Amino acid sequence: MIVHLRPNISQVQAEKLAHESQAILIRKNRNYVLVTSSKVQELPTVLSEAAMEYWAFPNDLQLGSRSYHSSTRAINLGSITIGGDSMNTVLMTGPCSVESEEQLESSAQLCVELGIKVLRGGAYKPRTSPYSFQGLGLEGLRLLAKMRDRYDLQIISEVRDATHVEAVIEHVDIIQIGAKAMYDQGILRRCGQVRKPVLIKRGFGSTLQEFVQAAEFVLSGGNEQVILCERGIRTFETNTRFTLDLCGVAYLKANCNLPVVLDPSHAMGHAYGVPDLTRACVALGVDGLLIESHPDPRKALSDAAQQLDYDSFRSLYKSLDPVAASVGRTIV
Ligand code: PEP
Ligand code: MN
Repeated sequence: MIVHLRPNISQVQAEKLAHESQAILIRKNRNYVLVTSSKVQELPTVLSEAAMEYWAFPNDLQLGSRSYHSSTRAINLGSITIGGDSMNTVLMTGPCSVESEEQLESSAQLCVELGIKVLRGGAYKPRTSPYSFQGLGLEGLRLLAKMRDRYDLQIISEVRDATHVEAVIEHVDIIQIGAKAMYDQGILRRCGQVRKPVLIKRGFGSTLQEFVQAAEFVLSGGNEQVILCERGIRTFETNTRFTLDLCGVAYLKANCNLPVVLDPSHAMGHAYGVPDLTRACVALGVDGLLIESHPDPRKALSDAAQQLDYDSFRSLYKSLDPVAASVGRTIV
């Protein structure tokens, strides 16, 4: 249950009420909000005097649900908005891993050429083998920040584990929580304290309920800027890397108030399928797309098979406007 307390309730009173009702306390501007388990269906009597408004829910999708907040939350990404009533489909592109200044600068220039505002690049890579390239770490974050300043871009990079969460928070504009880190509550809780957008990727073995509850960890920490990213789940199929759960996206769009981004690159795992899949994602009316691109994918140090070369990316980009227009969206 979510309870909005009356505006005259002090911090001391709010803390006492939170304790008595076993609720998480969130400060929203000058007011206080309590969130209890969704098992609470009736307003607890200790809150009857202090409550101004309250909502009961069928499960723990609460702060992120449309029954609490009917419209999609608007999140500012520099000069552009994702979600809200923008009807934007925000493109985010760049390499899987930041590999060198030249490589990243070429990605930044591709963004500028096409008017794309968000540059992606991993610095701490969550590889499935300890012997694979693990990312440039802090040097990668510094290169991303350099490109942000040089080309006026927003940068997004992922947190792999709690050891470098502060470095990522400090350097990036959008914090990406990778699919394998989605269950890391240390990362989720820390991101709840930050006032920057957080993009959470769905774990490939996670249900939609587990995914939205990961978002609730960040939201209940008081950070309202959460973006959900579907990037494929594991099924019995092995000819594609993962299976992009478009039904899940329809569910998220209908039930969640958070912007939804799709990542066709990691789902497909092969560059040949990415353009068609991207157009399908645009047609679904999503708020954003995360697509890997690389100046020379064959030489990429991670996810080489799925990254688009720049010519393929350019021709994909050109094909998106009419698809977006057909669902009332604008590619930005
Ligand atoms: C990535 O974005 O490069 C990445 C590793 O993604 P995921 O966490 O979805 O596997
Ligand atoms: Mn990747």
